[in-house]
Amino acid sequence: MIPAATVSLHASPAHPTPLQPAHWQQLWRQAVRDPRELLSMLGLEALSDRISDEAATRFPLRVPRGFVARMRKGDARDPLLRQVLPLNDEMRMVPGFESLDAVGDAAARAGTGLLQKYRGRALLVATGSCAVNCRYCFRRHYPYAEENAARAGWREALESIAADASVEEVILSGGDPLSLATSKLAELTEALRGIPHLKRLRIHTRLPVVLPERVDAGLLEWLARLPWPVAVVLHANHANEFDAQVDAALAGLRGTGAQLLNQAVLLRGVNDSVEALTELSERSFAAGVLPYYLHQLDRVAGVAHFEVPDQEARSLHAGLAARVSGYLVPRLVREVAGDTGKRPL
Ligand SMILES: *Cc1c(COP(=O)(O)O)cnc(C)c1O
Ligand code: SF4
Repeated sequence: MIPAATVSLHASPAHPTPLQPAHWQQLWRQAVRDPRELLSMLGLEALSDRISDEAATRFPLRVPRGFVARMRKGDARDPLLRQVLPLNDEMRMVPGFESLDAVGDAAARAGTGLLQKYRGRALLVATGSCAVNCRYCFRRHYPYAEENAARAGWREALESIAADASVEEVILSGGDPLSLATSKLAELTEALRGIPHLKRLRIHTRLPVVLPERVDAGLLEWLARLPWPVAVVLHANHANEFDAQVDAALAGLRGTGAQLLNQAVLLRGVNDSVEALTELSERSFAAGVLPYYLHQLDRVAGVAHFEVPDQEARSLHAGLAARVSGYLVPRLVREVAGDTGKRPL
């Protein structure tokens, strides 16, 4: 861990030089990586026999300290903790959960780090890095080292987007695209500016929620100057993921003119109640974010303990719809390989 004394408490410059990493990059490096350290921070040492070292080796624990601060001390069932803790449950072999690529990413590959599944949209796997490693993530088995567009200097992905006039929207995804330095993102959007058929830009990111410090002056300046309407699709699964700092980051994003949406995954033990889903929608809206999708879990190896059966998912979704304003009800969907869009349940 980097000693606290080296951390600058002053505002980070908008364009930090490589010798002077941005504040968020320093916080990124200080993320908790040891499951036992995480448990001891929360006074939950007793849970350590449920941790799987093998699961943590295959897909390491990673969680920013600010996100840990939003977990409830002494609560073994904390919904934020459950999203990040590598448990023995992940090592169980469960029928139906053997896949490493449940959503057909390999078949949709249209170039290095470029996925094209749906009409008009091209998804750029900009990077494999995330500030937090979510245990339920369907991309936990994705071959990021070879398959990311930034690594290939964007070139192959850009050529393929430029050559296909049906692509109106580029989606920056990953991993988490905002884990790239703003200068790297600007390099990409400068190149995209020259492609006349692009009408929208979308960013899929969990960073403003898990490490709100990422939303710094440089990022906001870059966003505000983009030539297209921008949608930022966030990812929060529980109301407790929001706090005052997240609110401030989201207000900053809205200030650039971006449309803020949220996608959540329906997760056993995290948000599998009408109460939790209601609070998530209401808290998102209070932060200026509209619910977009509630995803049924993608069935990849190691995530079976998070699954909520379809029947129950429908009933929870109906319960939510009966309680909140129509615009606070996300669409309940599943991704099915080969479909023309996310499939409503
Ligand atoms: C989910 C996804 C999209 C976006 O779908 P929307 O329904 O427009 O949100 C685009 N491309 C790929 C490859 C996707 O997986
Ligand atoms: S931030 Fe998104 S891509 Fe990264 S591990 Fe979590 S769910 Fe997966």
